[in-house]
Amino acid sequence: MAEAASPKKGHLLEVTDLKKHFPIRKGIFSRITGHVFAVDGVSFTIGHGETLGLVGESGCGKSTVGKAILKLLEPTAGEVHLNGKKISDLNQLEMRPHRREMQVIFQDPYSSLNPRMSAGDIVGEPMYNYGLAFGKEKEEKTRQLFAKVGLRAEHMLKYPHEFSGGQRQRLGIARALAVNPSLIIGDEPVSALDVSVQAQVINLMMDLQKEFNLSYLFIAHDLAVVEHISHRVAVMYLGKIVEMTDKRSLFVAPQHPYTEALLSAVPIPSPKMKRKRIILTGDVPSPIRPPPGCRFHTRCPYVMDHCKVAEPPMKEVAPGHFVACHLRQPGQAMYAIAAHATSSARTAGATEH
Ligand code: SF4
Repeated sequence: MAEAASPKKGHLLEVTDLKKHFPIRKGIFSRITGHVFAVDGVSFTIGHGETLGLVGESGCGKSTVGKAILKLLEPTAGEVHLNGKKISDLNQLEMRPHRREMQVIFQDPYSSLNPRMSAGDIVGEPMYNYGLAFGKEKEEKTRQLFAKVGLRAEHMLKYPHEFSGGQRQRLGIARALAVNPSLIIGDEPVSALDVSVQAQVINLMMDLQKEFNLSYLFIAHDLAVVEHISHRVAVMYLGKIVEMTDKRSLFVAPQHPYTEALLSAVPIPSPKMKRKRIILTGDVPSPIRPPPGCRFHTRCPYVMDHCKVAEPPMKEVAPGHFVACHLRQPGQAMYAIAAHATSSARTAGATEH
């Protein structure tokens, strides 16, 4: 699979301390009795032409981050800037021009495609709605988009149920591209596809990124899926980002115990190599009552007393490598990474046999 192209400098998207808390209501008066802390202070940036992979177990809040950025869910707190413009406090009408800039691809394209519309109409409709193209011009642009995503012109007359899963995802990508977006949020866009089809769709997204200088927030529960497409990766646990760095640093020298465990489950494409699997015990705690201190302490193999009471702040342990763990300190990063490179052969890393 091809490597991701280098992004251009500058931030397209800036997310600062984003929170989304869902109230829990009970009784006949619908009193608020608690909150689900789905996203609890998430910050990151995405550059022009850059892909940020956002990874974590199911229920960690990663899809809610995507929806809060798009304002499909109203954020509880925090700021979102797109191209330097603050969009987090805009109302639905004011958001309309910015929605064109930010498109989304869902895990299940079938449920997001109108079954009564032909594929050509599905892709052409957003151009019409945003006043970008009409009539013959719209038809021609639709035809070009079909070719770009690897669909044939005759597919324009078909209906969503006549397509395979991979073709439907191509259709979803064509629809997203129809309005010339800068950012595409992929919410588990390949999770429902066969592995061979996953690779095709990821390659297609990478080709389109190069051609249109697109930025992606690529949400997935599996590190293996984000490996090829991402420039940087953020790992989320129970509503917070616990580690964020460039892809290589994350895969070669993960600094957070949770990343280490996730990585140990990623298969190695060589029969000569093996990797010791780190099995995390226990389930992800409820986001209604997150554990005090480090949220990962109930499952962390390296937990210390301090971790149970003090929340670890996000620290930059090496240039561009951010970790929230009491084990890691700025300035010790090279030592920590070097130490990890050795220990990873023993624990999370691969060894030849
Ligand atoms: Fe584990 Fe403590 Fe680090 Fe949390 S802060 S990941 S409990 S070592």
